Amino acid sequence: MSDRPLEPSATEMRAMTESVLDLLVESMEKLDSSPASLNSPSASLLSELSAPPPEEAGKLDELLELTRRATEQSYSTAGPSYLAYIPGGGIFTSALSNFLAAGLNRYTGKASTAPALVALEESVLRWMCELFDFPAESQGLLTTGGSLANLTAVVAARTRHAEGQVDRATIYVGEHAHGSLLKAARTAGMVVEHVRSIGSTSDLKMDVAELRARLAEDRTAGLVPVCICAAAGTTNTGAIDPLPELAAVAREFGIWLHVDGAYGGLLQLTERGRARLAGIELADSITLDPHKSLFLPFGTGALVVRSRNALLDAFSRPADYMQDLEEDDSLPDFDALTPELTRDFRGLRVWLPLHLHGVGAFRRQLDEKLDLAKLAYDTLSADSRLEVPWAPDLTVVVFRLAGRDDTAQLEYLRRINDSQRVLLSSTRIGGDVYLRIAILSARTHEDRVREALEIIARAADDA
Ligand SMILES: *Cc1c(COP(=O)(O)O)cnc(C)c1O
Repeated sequence: MSDRPLEPSATEMRAMTESVLDLLVESMEKLDSSPASLNSPSASLLSELSAPPPEEAGKLDELLELTRRATEQSYSTAGPSYLAYIPGGGIFTSALSNFLAAGLNRYTGKASTAPALVALEESVLRWMCELFDFPAESQGLLTTGGSLANLTAVVAARTRHAEGQVDRATIYVGEHAHGSLLKAARTAGMVVEHVRSIGSTSDLKMDVAELRARLAEDRTAGLVPVCICAAAGTTNTGAIDPLPELAAVAREFGIWLHVDGAYGGLLQLTERGRARLAGIELADSITLDPHKSLFLPFGTGALVVRSRNALLDAFSRPADYMQDLEEDDSLPDFDALTPELTRDFRGLRVWLPLHLHGVGAFRRQLDEKLDLAKLAYDTLSADSRLEVPWAPDLTVVVFRLAGRDDTAQLEYLRRINDSQRVLLSSTRIGGDVYLRIAILSARTHEDRVREALEIIARAADDA
């Protein structure tokens, strides 16, 4: 390379990109046959990877080879076999958009520095707001994930309902709520004990009567209830909390209703999802995770908020060193709406795939996952050796060996995962271990789900 290695020529850029593309295409083509969960790198690989960066230039091919070997030692989270936790597919066209956006490297934290690019990002955010029938004064945001979306919502709710009284602020989450809400409350300066964990009814949904009683008790005790955090698809089982009833309670107490739809919110794109999520449109804010249910690469979460002003109240701060940048009322300054200032141009990786493939392509994918979850539920329910207590609201199916203890369940999980053709995970519900099958990857289709069901049945033979 030249004496300006950080500014490669056109030929050099093409050659380097070609090498990276080769690695990526090879890795994507292998996803079907890759082992589901290799994660035991050799000591020599780990020691190669622990080297600090050298003073002198290295070789791209060698560095890519090291990257390839390191990638092989990982869960195949982007592949069809990944049925654990919550899958995230990572579609190719979104990766291309990411590459392009990073290369262009335009500043989109303020509208005036790149108004058309901010308009592009805002167009997908409006689309998300409208998906939930949110009003014109609503605002969407792209975050790095669901956790940061939940944090942003909790801070907005706390600012609106407990400014200056954070030591007395309380929030209400279901016992199956995602752990990021506890982190959010803590990061927002709230007392950890003031995160009220509300029990569930037998269908694993937040118990509205218990919630109402707890709210009344806390108010009487001089505490300041801020927010009910409902789940639109718990991570455990995909259960959807009773959203219309929770909206009514929030209205009655004059507090915020946040819906954590990081896993399930975007199922709103399907007819069945929209019916099951009814009431979500009454929320003050909804967390979405395009890196789960829109199959985008990790690093893409979203939040939609009913009132843009609630975000401005929480995050807008004038800064002297920004005085040259004019405000344009028709476009959002994202830095005034979130804790972030400089951010990657994340709009492109949502906008480009949606326009390129059309929303229908995503809708059909999500519909397929709902069909596959029903197939899994029906098949597992018909096996008398298994207990399958809850019909799936969305695309997570929970089951266990009937009449066996927790140790036997974990052993059963190990035998299934030893196939390396699928990866399932486990959880605890009411203290007992259950296995989960979570179907949400763009690359998981009927063939792999049927194979998973056969592996599950064979492993039950051996149990
Ligand atoms: C995944 C998940 C989160 C956290 O989102 P990240 O994108 O992992 O930060 C929050 N809530 C629920 C219900 C989730 O499934």
